[in-house]
Amino acid sequence: MSELEIKHVYKDYKLGNKSKFNALNDINISFDKGELVSIIGESGSGKSTLMNLIGGLDSDYTGEIKIGGIDLKTFKEKQLDDYRKKKIGFVFQSFNLIPHLSILDNVTIALTLSDVKESVKLEKAKTILAKLGLENQLKKKPTQLSGGQKQRVAIARALINDPDIILADEPTGSLDSATTLQILDILKEIADDGKLVIMVTHSEKVASISSRVVELSDGKIIKDEIKKDYKKNENTNKLVEEDKTEMVSSQNKKEKHLSLYSAVRLSLHNMWASRTKNFLMALGVTISLISMILMLAFGSGLTSYIDSLAQSYSSPMIVTVSKSTSTPENPMGAIMDLITPSTFTNEDIDDVVNQINNHLESQSIEYRVDKNELGYGFSTMTGMSNGSATINFEADGEEKSASIFYLYTTPPYYTEEQLLAGTLSGQATEDSETGEMIGEIMVSAKIANEMGLESYEDAIGKIVTVKVNYQTDSDATSIIPINQKCKITAIVDVNMFEQMLVMYVDYDYLSSLVAEQDATLSPTAIYINTDSENTTNIINNFLSTTQNYTGSVENQMASMFTEMLSTFSIALAIIAGISLIVAMIMILVVLYMSVSERTREIGVLKSIGARKRDIKKIFTTESFLIGLFSGIVGIIFAGVVGGILILIFKAILGFAPLSFYWYYFVIALVLSVVISVLAGLYPASKAAKLDPVESLRHE
Ligand code: ADP
Ligand code: MG
Repeated sequence: MSELEIKHVYKDYKLGNKSKFNALNDINISFDKGELVSIIGESGSGKSTLMNLIGGLDSDYTGEIKIGGIDLKTFKEKQLDDYRKKKIGFVFQSFNLIPHLSILDNVTIALTLSDVKESVKLEKAKTILAKLGLENQLKKKPTQLSGGQKQRVAIARALINDPDIILADEPTGSLDSATTLQILDILKEIADDGKLVIMVTHSEKVASISSRVVELSDGKIIKDEIKKDYKKNENTNKLVEEDKTEMVSSQNKKEKHLSLYSAVRLSLHNMWASRTKNFLMALGVTISLISMILMLAFGSGLTSYIDSLAQSYSSPMIVTVSKSTSTPENPMGAIMDLITPSTFTNEDIDDVVNQINNHLESQSIEYRVDKNELGYGFSTMTGMSNGSATINFEADGEEKSASIFYLYTTPPYYTEEQLLAGTLSGQATEDSETGEMIGEIMVSAKIANEMGLESYEDAIGKIVTVKVNYQTDSDATSIIPINQKCKITAIVDVNMFEQMLVMYVDYDYLSSLVAEQDATLSPTAIYINTDSENTTNIINNFLSTTQNYTGSVENQMASMFTEMLSTFSIALAIIAGISLIVAMIMILVVLYMSVSERTREIGVLKSIGARKRDIKKIFTTESFLIGLFSGIVGIIFAGVVGGILILIFKAILGFAPLSFYWYYFVIALVLSVVISVLAGLYPASKAAKLDPVESLRHE
């Protein structure tokens, strides 16, 4: 039985328009081990086609190709992969070394695909490379070698699995005559070692040293000449030692394949080879991730900042009731309530007290609101309402005045903690010299600034004239003028109104001033001192369900801002999501392009026995690693940028509206990996499906 028997083999190439091209026409021939066969013939005569059929790269033919008596047609895909890996060694005209791998890695790649132990792999590869005179080139990349050296590397790669058949398609076609002889010597030695070497050649000289010359013409064998004068070299130093144990074990053990470790290693090599491209691609993902994390951080940071602001404007034991003009249809009413708060009439107050007490009863709460125990507050944004307020003071010997932006009465929950300087009293005191009643007021730091003082502390104790034009009703035209000397006793920390001129007066004092003009001060806020936090919450929840009343304007503002923020955050998250999708498409495009760039490499891998799954594994590992790297870089940068932003905000605003939670980073990392792997799926499966013959012909 011959090593290789070819019987009645026909090969047609399908052309686009349903027609066929007959490339091989009834090929009948057999070959034995130890033969060095030259296949010659004109270009286009079918030489490469025949080699591809023998090598198991192309299964689309009719007839029989038997290796050791077994017909290739009976092989399943896996067996065919194995056949290419173990039985066949390919050598190509253009060497087809993998450019980003070292010489050593190029040779061991076939063993890597079988997950052979690292030490065994190195030992085998080094032995073969040494025999081919390449022991000093192990670490080099293919581009650093001469043509002859490259072809020797390719031969080493073909030999590493100790195949029975070496197929060399014009192995010397790219070499000069001196190197051609070297390579021929090596091929002859391989044949003389007992392998079947079939090479395609154009060169008469090459053909002349072989043991047999087969000539093809138009897909037919027109000559088959066995050279009687062929001299075998009886050498003892075989290029590859037969590895009997390997053969036995591979029959018993389950066939091993490309390990994850090797896939990662191969991917890393390739990623490093195109590092600029990969870096730029990762940058795209990284930027999306950074913006996503920062948006999340800003969203939650601002929300909690606003909540804390609202907290500072309330006390757990005090319910603030305001009149509400905001409705579900008009949530912006809260802003109007802040600018020009509506005032409570006596009936309103009775109504609120009744409604709350009814609700408390229905909730089986014992506590009842007592109308006589209520506290009142007044506030107005003076520039916006018809009333007005100014502070007149002396600076640089001149009378000056500043318009009060916001006039408040001191709310009962205001504590000394909210003061920047001075003490909280607000009560009017009698001036010892004139006997005049002098009111005490608290102002924001900005007022000290307006007064031309260097520090707000200097404003404490200063006597100013407060002028208020109190408007008794929002519809009324009557304005009550108040003109009163007051002493600044405290500077108030007014958080977000920091840049505004804010003044606090005592409610009783203000109402006594209004009363002097035969008018009454109508409150804009009612304060209820409850018995417990629980009662406070119940009343607050109840107020939020009523039409006309609401909690404190600040709380209302806070919930409105929070609501706006969450809508805003969702919008930002969608934008970040879109940018991630863009990044994903970018990865897809880059990987897709990398598949066509690496088409030849994929063809080579297939010719040495890589399965579809192995190819897929290499590409998927690569997209996974890209996602992982981008993710890690992204979260590190997000952390750094976040840290810098926090420092900047702290320096400028005194607080940072960013909150970072560890799970933002985890989400970003997972997303990065998931989108990269998803983006890589299509290119990976495209790579796996590439036809090996076409891939190898790819330019
Ligand atoms: P050789 O290697 O002897 O130069 P080939 O085996 O490459 O020739 O090609 C044999 C014939 O088949 C040529 O005429 C070539 O044009 C044709 N052929 C090769 N590959 C294809 C293909 N994929 N589709 C159509 N025709 C092809
Ligand atoms: Mg050819």
